Amino acid sequence: MRKVEYPAPLQELIRQLQRMPGIGPRSAERIALWIVQAPNSRPGEISEAITRCSKAVINCRECGFFAEGELCVICSDPARDRSVLCVIEQPTDILPLERTGAFNGVYHTLGGKLSPLNHVGPEDLRFEALLQRIKQVPPSELILALGADVEGEATASYLSQLLAGIELRVTRLAQGLPAGLGLESADDVTIARAFSGRTEFPR
Ligand SMILES: [Zn+2]
Repeated sequence: MRKVEYPAPLQELIRQLQRMPGIGPRSAERIALWIVQAPNSRPGEISEAITRCSKAVINCRECGFFAEGELCVICSDPARDRSVLCVIEQPTDILPLERTGAFNGVYHTLGGKLSPLNHVGPEDLRFEALLQRIKQVPPSELILALGADVEGEATASYLSQLLAGIELRVTRLAQGLPAGLGLESADDVTIARAFSGRTEFPR
């Protein structure tokens, strides 16, 4: 007797869905069955949105946030205060900070944090681009909004060494951010407080 499986195209869809983060075999199967069976699934719209998004959305040349052109909405906004530069780990850290309404400066995404265990060294992060930016448009304050974990601390210290000799006020967000977690998991009030209570970073 032949072993019975889903038809090949359905198996392929399940395989593709499983490549996505957070989607295991069971979820992939459930989504795939919904796509082929539900009368309102409109698969054309889903695939079109995926294709359009993956082509149109890039990282901002300046800050690293998501953008549709060379510059994101923040970097192309003349009302933003370019004298205050906030250094963050990931582009996804920007929205939680923006939602607080506590910050009107501009950002610089490092692309991660120093992590020898995960083989992330200084050359893997956007430190050089940051130094270039500081040279080109010297800010009056650099705010370090890095995670309150060991790797975030190591990244902040490394940055502080890099900035040695550059005349610049360096601050960090006040403690109170959840230890061991990134900005994404903090609520608006905590982030807003951490902003307003920021302290000088020892150099
Ligand atoms: Zn930008």
